[in-house]
Amino acid sequence: MSSRAVKTEAVVLRSMRYGEADRILHLYTPHRGRVGAIAKGVRRARSRFGGRLEPFFRLHIELHEGRGELLTVTGANTVDGHASLRGDARALDAAARACDAVGRLFETSEPHPGVFNLLCRQLALLDERAREHTSPGSRAAALAFRLKLLLAAGLAPHLGACASCGEREHLVGFSGAAGGVVCTAGEAGSFALGEGAYRFMTDALARALTDAPDADDPSLGQVERAIAATLEHHAHVRLMPATGRAG
Ligand SMILES: [Zn+2]
Repeated sequence: MSSRAVKTEAVVLRSMRYGEADRILHLYTPHRGRVGAIAKGVRRARSRFGGRLEPFFRLHIELHEGRGELLTVTGANTVDGHASLRGDARALDAAARACDAVGRLFETSEPHPGVFNLLCRQLALLDERAREHTSPGSRAAALAFRLKLLLAAGLAPHLGACASCGEREHLVGFSGAAGGVVCTAGEAGSFALGEGAYRFMTDALARALTDAPDADDPSLGQVERAIAATLEHHAHVRLMPATGRAG
């Protein structure tokens, strides 16, 4: 059987202990989507991989593709280890949720280089905010990231007009089934969506992550519910809450 070497950039989404000294990794790559890999002997003190195969590392990685489902890690160099992020509990929690969302929404080998770039930007931003102590891991930042993931997945909520009838006025609700805002005529399963939540979603989709909008907590609650309803109806995916209880 043929086997081949694969060189790619990757972000480590998850890293799980396996056997005596190995680790199973979930990697997210620009051109091969999510990749499962095994790193042998990585937990031995003298492993040539050092501590690089931990979650949230951005790497240049070399993999060997054989017959099995998992690729084997043969080399890894750090592009960014996000050291500041690692020292901040809230940034770590936000990074874990970001990686979890990417892994769940983009779990196949289908390439989405835009998603890889978005994840790298989010991790770099969390690292920078942890370094500057400027509230890494806010709920607004986490939701702005999720909205951009929805956009990359082709699931961005329909916001310009009623997703059910096309009406442009009196857009007061949100329907996951319709995939966007809905008017007063009412749609089964819709819930109230206020002006603050509407503006947040419009701005978050239009702006860069570094310039993400903010909103009051009730509005952010509606945004999170709108994202969850969209994902449940159209991707059958359920994400972790956008932030932990302390968030
Ligand atoms: Zn309508």
